[in-house]
Amino acid sequence: MENHTTRPHHVAVVGSGPSGFYAAAALLDAEPDVRVDMFDRLATPWGLVRAGVAPDHPKIKSVSSQYDKTAAREGFRFFGHVCLGEDITRDELLERYDAIIYAVGSQTERRLGIPGEDLPGSIASVDFVGWYNGHPDYVDLAPALDTERAVVIGAGNVALDVARMLLLPEADLRATDTADHALDALVGSSVREAVICGRRGPREAAFTTTELRELTDIDDLAVVADPGQVPADIADDDTLPKATRRNLEILRGFAAHEPDPGARHRMEFRFYRSPVEIRGDGRVEEIVLGVNRLETGEDGRTRAVDTGERETVPTGLVLRAVGYRGLALPGVPFDDDTGTVPHTEGRIDGDDHRREYVVGWIKRGPSGIIGTNKKDANETVRHLVADLAEREPVDRPADHGESVETWLRDRCPDLVDQAGWQAIDAHERGRGEPDGRPRVKVVDREELLKLSRP
Ligand code: NAP
Repeated sequence: MENHTTRPHHVAVVGSGPSGFYAAAALLDAEPDVRVDMFDRLATPWGLVRAGVAPDHPKIKSVSSQYDKTAAREGFRFFGHVCLGEDITRDELLERYDAIIYAVGSQTERRLGIPGEDLPGSIASVDFVGWYNGHPDYVDLAPALDTERAVVIGAGNVALDVARMLLLPEADLRATDTADHALDALVGSSVREAVICGRRGPREAAFTTTELRELTDIDDLAVVADPGQVPADIADDDTLPKATRRNLEILRGFAAHEPDPGARHRMEFRFYRSPVEIRGDGRVEEIVLGVNRLETGEDGRTRAVDTGERETVPTGLVLRAVGYRGLALPGVPFDDDTGTVPHTEGRIDGDDHRREYVVGWIKRGPSGIIGTNKKDANETVRHLVADLAEREPVDRPADHGESVETWLRDRCPDLVDQAGWQAIDAHERGRGEPDGRPRVKVVDREELLKLSRP
């Protein structure tokens, strides 16, 4: 007779970014006996911490040490280079696990829907960010940086990230883990100016204060705004939320300040502007911006309304940073309007058996900072643990975990486990050390797999 046991519970976490890791940690805290298997389609974990956070923000990236601690816990396993929907199916996971948590984030861009959007030289921030961060999918992007001016669409933190990466001094860039292909291109770039366009006003911008404030510390960068758009008294309204007032104080500083005429780089904030058309003969040559006024709707939200006035800006590079969008997972419900999985506090709607859950951006949309995912994951895991406790225990052999691994390795011979990832990690860090860089990223899939093998 085989030795059967009703415990431990086996949970699959699909996606190894912050939300996946916070969910794994919350599960391990709640059920000391739980087994958590974390999957990622890439050979490397950490999601946007590795492939999204700007390389000149090493402090933010250092949150990965928390994920290392989770990965070192008893009951945790990492299975990289395993793609749900290609290598394995949702049904196969449901057969083998008591529950699945989808933590796959928002993997694509929100579209502008304007003529010329797909001209060469018009690039989604998702792609550009992936490119400079060494995400294997975007290594070959080769953005055209042979232009003096870049126009960035969107007034959020990603817009700031991409504009800053274009304008950082060489020494600052060289100290980062920017992928080498991007480092060379950015250092040799002709871009001297980035114009960040917000469709609404400075009050409505989605930047966070730390990210705005740090611009003042960048060498050789003149940051400017139009005093007509950011008047001197704009922050003096004490009915505004504190964070908005702090942002406005910084922005009005940019507008009031006489920019250093000798600065090598220039960043401009231009508000009340929507992209209307991107034009060019075979590649981007200019962008037409529509001038907006603001109107407050019945819901209290301020909307940008086109005045009909137009402004043409010559540029060879348009970066579209208007937000991310989730992708549907095979067999999992999906709301196409929001680009998220419909759920109630993390329990996927329509899952009457209470076995599928969501966390992070695929749950709530692409908003918030890394830490936001902790609370979000805790909410989902609280329900998951309650559901597990209520359910009839599943009879499984004591070596169920081992059987699952055997099945996976058979299906995915190139699977990268935690030891494989640690080998990649050590190699990258070692390569960075002589130049004082946090790491030199390996971006080639085959090389990553080779490094991961014992
Ligand atoms: P975001 O904060 O949602 O900003 C998107 C911007 O795009 C908004 O200004 C939005 O304007 C604008 N936009 C949307 N559709 C548009 C259109 N059709 N035309 C023109 N503009 C349009 O998104 P994000 O910058 O991608 O950032 C995603 C999340 O990651 C945010 O929560 C952000 O704070 C976070 N993040 C944090 C950091 C950090 O902490 N350092 C770094 C990067 C990202 P409206 O407001 O008018 O819609």
